[in-house]
Amino acid sequence: MGIQFEREKCIQCNPTGESFCSKYCPGDLIYLDSEEKPQMRDNSKCWDCMVCVKACPVEAIYTVLPYSISSSKAKLIPFKQENKIIWKLEKENEIKEEFEIITAKDEQKSD
Ligand code: SF4
Ligand code: SF4
Repeated sequence: MGIQFEREKCIQCNPTGESFCSKYCPGDLIYLDSEEKPQMRDNSKCWDCMVCVKACPVEAIYTVLPYSISSSKAKLIPFKQENKIIWKLEKENEIKEEFEIITAKDEQKSD
């Protein structure tokens, strides 16, 4: 898989501190370039944990699925809501499937 940034969507979040994608990557793989937009230090070291994808407040980061999973270019984009994340599978510029994941916060409420 692979992480991609949509530079035009990035709002350079958290201007008083480290941006969320850079702050939460466990491998310290993301940095902001001279335009304050995210870049990967080394794609080969990314293990697709998707922490950066979920941390971005404006869905400016997505995961590209490999050809072994999808025969044509497909991406997974999270849309965060208060108690859940809706993952959308986009293929050929169309949303093909949606997966709803209840967040831990909501699971705790039902205990
Ligand atoms: S997917 Fe995980 S390891 Fe890869 S850049 Fe994002 S946070 Fe870092
Ligand atoms: S988390 Fe999103 S908005 Fe913030 S710097 Fe990274 S890509 Fe831009």
